[in-house]
Amino acid sequence: MDTSKIGKFIATKRKEQNLTQMELAEKLNITDRAISKWECGRAMPDSSIMLELCEILHISVNELLSGEELEMNNYNKQAELNLIEMKKQKEASDRRLLNMEIVLGVGGTILFLAAILCAAFLDLQIWARIVIIVSAFILFLLMCFFLIRIEQVTGYYECKHCHHRYVPTYKQANMAMHFGRTRYMKCPHCGKKSWQKKVISDENNNYIALEVFVICIYMCYYWRSIYWTIYIE
Ligand SMILES: [Zn+2]
Repeated sequence: MDTSKIGKFIATKRKEQNLTQMELAEKLNITDRAISKWECGRAMPDSSIMLELCEILHISVNELLSGEELEMNNYNKQAELNLIEMKKQKEASDRRLLNMEIVLGVGGTILFLAAILCAAFLDLQIWARIVIIVSAFILFLLMCFFLIRIEQVTGYYECKHCHHRYVPTYKQANMAMHFGRTRYMKCPHCGKKSWQKKVISDENNNYIALEVFVICIYMCYYWRSIYWTIYIE
């Protein structure tokens, strides 16, 4: 989506309506800085105010997203192009989120492991060891819930039986058995259970092996350190 073209279009239409940035901002209940950002092409209007903005500027959402006035004969074609473009942007942002999930997951796991190792090897009182282990565990669990949330809202899960693609509820994603990002869930379309893969067009699943490796290592260390903590005491 050409944000600078859209920005110039918004500015032109705003001036046609004899509105200053401040006046337009007041009508939309937002800051004039936001308007200035759109018009410079540094940001896009939020979808929640897009309709109201278009009403004020006397344009359609399709025209806003195209950054120009549209003739009736290429109106539908442009609407389709805009839809495709928005879909692409959603996929790109999903991919960024999933990459962030990997970084957070691996980083968090290393920190968790480090805390458990400290509890096991440093010369500490038993209560200090317990505090470190319990707080590391709680933080680790919180991180997991956050990562599941990322996984739930990005992309889709595909049913193996009917190939229906859907976004599961947080509870569903959280409770499901999983292997990497593949989850065992019930399809809302055909009602059958299967191991469902995460799909975003050209999604890359190479990190699953790494995730499994990291999880195995920390499980080994975790049980070993608990054993040692008890044994040493
Ligand atoms: Zn199905």
